Amino acid sequence: ATAATVIDGKAIAQEIRHEIAGEVKELYEKHAKVPGLAVVIVGSRKDSQSYVSMKRKACAEVGIRSFDIDLPEEISEAEVIAKVHEFNANPDVHGMLVQLPLPKHINEEKVLNEICIEKDVDGFHPLNIGKLAMKGREPLFQPCTPKGCLELLSRSGIGIKGKRAVVVGRSNIVGLPVALLLIKADATVTVVHSHTRDSENIIREADIVIAASGQAMMIKGDWIKPGAAVIDVGTNAVDDPSRKSGYRLVGDVDFDGASKVAGWITPVPGGVGPMTIAMLLRNALDGAKRKIMQ
Ligand code: NDP
Repeated sequence: ATAATVIDGKAIAQEIRHEIAGEVKELYEKHAKVPGLAVVIVGSRKDSQSYVSMKRKACAEVGIRSFDIDLPEEISEAEVIAKVHEFNANPDVHGMLVQLPLPKHINEEKVLNEICIEKDVDGFHPLNIGKLAMKGREPLFQPCTPKGCLELLSRSGIGIKGKRAVVVGRSNIVGLPVALLLIKADATVTVVHSHTRDSENIIREADIVIAASGQAMMIKGDWIKPGAAVIDVGTNAVDDPSRKSGYRLVGDVDFDGASKVAGWITPVPGGVGPMTIAMLLRNALDGAKRKIMQ
């Protein structure tokens, strides 16, 4: 079998960030305005902190002003919501995200519901998700990781219309919205999850596989239809004593096996991950433009 084309998410994300930086500059030259993004984190989870610091750094690199709010683990739900309201009212803040997961004593749904939809750059507000699911409606923002998956397909010249797509996973932040986006893009979509029987034979029918199960290397090479496009969202740490850190990141797909069969495949790391942040910057800029140029 011939080897798949490896989709370089890092390079594509870099290209997008370059485009965004140009548009941010133009916005400033024409309107003397800088897009503002509030990045709120609660608590000190290491993974969340590293995602948040990447997001803030990425903002700085393209000229988006980030409003950095670090709240302590013990903060009350009401205080987090008060912060959200403050940013809703701040005209210099065009977009806002609250890094998930929140500490257990804070109700995620309640907090996300308070973000005004015009600033909901993560696209997690139920109104934005609802519009994503409806024919003829457009959400103000599409969720970043799902949007990044579709952008990888389109920038790799992979058509979606009329294709069979299988999404592995149905979470609110990845699986479900990516399935909705694929339906909007005229694919025929099947969603498999932890209760699905015989998911491997369902995956075998897919022209496009989006893997978002959080199960390290569960999708094997012989589950992939020859020539299929495989987008691996999974980011799983597995023990690796040969590394200084003691671990390495792997996807939900067995890359070595699948890359012998697939037509295209994304690596982990360096596939979907960098796209998520690029799409966040895109959403932040688009939100700012919508407000400034209204
Ligand atoms: P969740 O744990 O919230 O959801 C996992 C989904 O996969 C659930 O719907 C679950 O089913 C399903 N699932 C679990 N086991 C299986 C199985 N054996 N077969 C089929 N489906 C299964 O994870 P997320 O959606 O938040 O994240 C998924 C992966 O993507 C993770 O590895 C995460 O780290 C990564 N990720 C990467 C991002 C990036 O930027 N690259 C961003 C966000 C996430 P059920 O609903 O029945 O429980």
